[in-house]
Amino acid sequence: MIKALFLDRDGVINIEKDYLYKIEDFEFIDGIFDLCKYYRELGYIIVVVTNQSGIAREYYSHSDFDSLTTWMLQEFSKHSISIKDVYYCPHHPSITGECSCRKPNPGMLLKAAKKHNIDLANSIIIGDKERDIEAGLNAGLEETYLFDESALIIESKATKIVRNLDEIWKNRC
Ligand SMILES: [Mg+2]
Ligand SMILES: [Zn+2]
Repeated sequence: MIKALFLDRDGVINIEKDYLYKIEDFEFIDGIFDLCKYYRELGYIIVVVTNQSGIAREYYSHSDFDSLTTWMLQEFSKHSISIKDVYYCPHHPSITGECSCRKPNPGMLLKAAKKHNIDLANSIIIGDKERDIEAGLNAGLEETYLFDESALIIESKATKIVRNLDEIWKNRC
């Protein structure tokens, strides 16, 4: 069994912009590469789990999402970081009905765990919304981080609320 670092995409890897799908709108968040390097060196695999209801809303297509993902993975490889897998939920309950993959449901994490033999209890999730944290808890994770640059969120089920990504791993014992 292997440990995973689960990352939400929008608001964790890239600056949150509504229904982003264009490469030119994608801006990496400060510290994301260093954080990924740190956990890769500890032996964690990195898995992206992202809600993409813009697909259900027909703001962009599966292939738009795929093109952006291909580009994003290349940018990670330029920093010598391998992302093991990317899971996305293209649904929205009011358009496509309930699904098991849309966070806070744990479907994407459970699917990843099965495929990659992940030790969920010893894995980590980082998200910028409470539903990311809940998805992690629903999958049996114990270590969860809510990344909130705005410093507006004061309450969360997360292990810790952090204001920048470095706080997660620097000074970690
Ligand atoms: Mg997000
Ligand atoms: Zn879904």
